[in-house]
Amino acid sequence: AQSRYASLRDLPAEALCGTRVALHMNAGLIADLPSLAGSGAEGVGLFRTELQFLVRAHVPKRSELVAIYARVLEAAHGKRVAFRTLDIGSDKVLPYMKRVEEPNPAMGWRAIRVGLDKPGIMRMQLQALIRAANGRPLSVMFPFVAEFDEFRAARQHFLDEIERERHLGHTLPERIEVGAMLETPSLAFAPREFFEMTDFISIGGNDLKQFFFAADRENEAVRRRYDMLNTSYMNFIEQIVARCAEGGTHLSFCGEDAGRPVEAACLAAIGLRTLSMRPASIGPVKHLIRKINLKDLRATMDEARASGAVNLRGAVMSWLSGQDI
Ligand code: PEP
Ligand code: MG
Repeated sequence: AQSRYASLRDLPAEALCGTRVALHMNAGLIADLPSLAGSGAEGVGLFRTELQFLVRAHVPKRSELVAIYARVLEAAHGKRVAFRTLDIGSDKVLPYMKRVEEPNPAMGWRAIRVGLDKPGIMRMQLQALIRAANGRPLSVMFPFVAEFDEFRAARQHFLDEIERERHLGHTLPERIEVGAMLETPSLAFAPREFFEMTDFISIGGNDLKQFFFAADRENEAVRRRYDMLNTSYMNFIEQIVARCAEGGTHLSFCGEDAGRPVEAACLAAIGLRTLSMRPASIGPVKHLIRKINLKDLRATMDEARASGAVNLRGAVMSWLSGQDI
């Protein structure tokens, strides 16, 4: 599939209306990095750091993490990498961590909740990221933030670690960006100051969708039941776009839907300018975006909404079938 789209690799995802969409890739292992050049991704929009913890039998040492993150940044050759701090718990259980039995782990003690309650590992990870950056820019984002105070507290841990590294005489990142993943509906309604404080926000569509529709992403019986193009969900994402614009924060979307061409085009049509996806999706998504006018797609979606459509897919597909793709 990669070769079919190879000719697009160095071309921008620029729609016929002139709108440009930045396509980034999701990664988590050193083995993913060659795809950065191969896919034409503009950066790594989501680096899932828990994978390095899941493939080991013990908590990695700080020095091991420094080496891994430095390799990632070197392989990125100056392209931006958004490192997500540990998202453990839920479906991702560390073999060496005492397992807490939870009736509903996806809504349980996971991700930033663990990071804030037992900050040891998260702080060690932040130290490793700062050292690995070694003077280069550093982007860090926190997973599964449900309220403003969690972001504020996590960000403060990061700033404290920067201070600590300064005292120790280490080279600091040239620039830092601190972001939050928006994966719980509650965060979309956070005070305006939240959007002003974040340097960027990335919608974790997999979790956001499961919590928006209350449909478990791991449960075969319901996981495909609700469509991203459901009108209520698209209205919700549009509100997030608006709140991020008001707060002056950059918004991206990672999560599987960003890698589906039709969904990706619809996200771009309602204002997303950065999408992060698995490397193999970049070609197909870019191909579609380059063939269409996003303003016309937006008008089609608005019209379907105005006429009371519960789902925009029908209107979008019929519009697409009339395009020269
Ligand atoms: C998401 O929830 O959309 C996401 C990108 O994170 P993960 O799939 O790792 O939970
Ligand atoms: Mg998630």
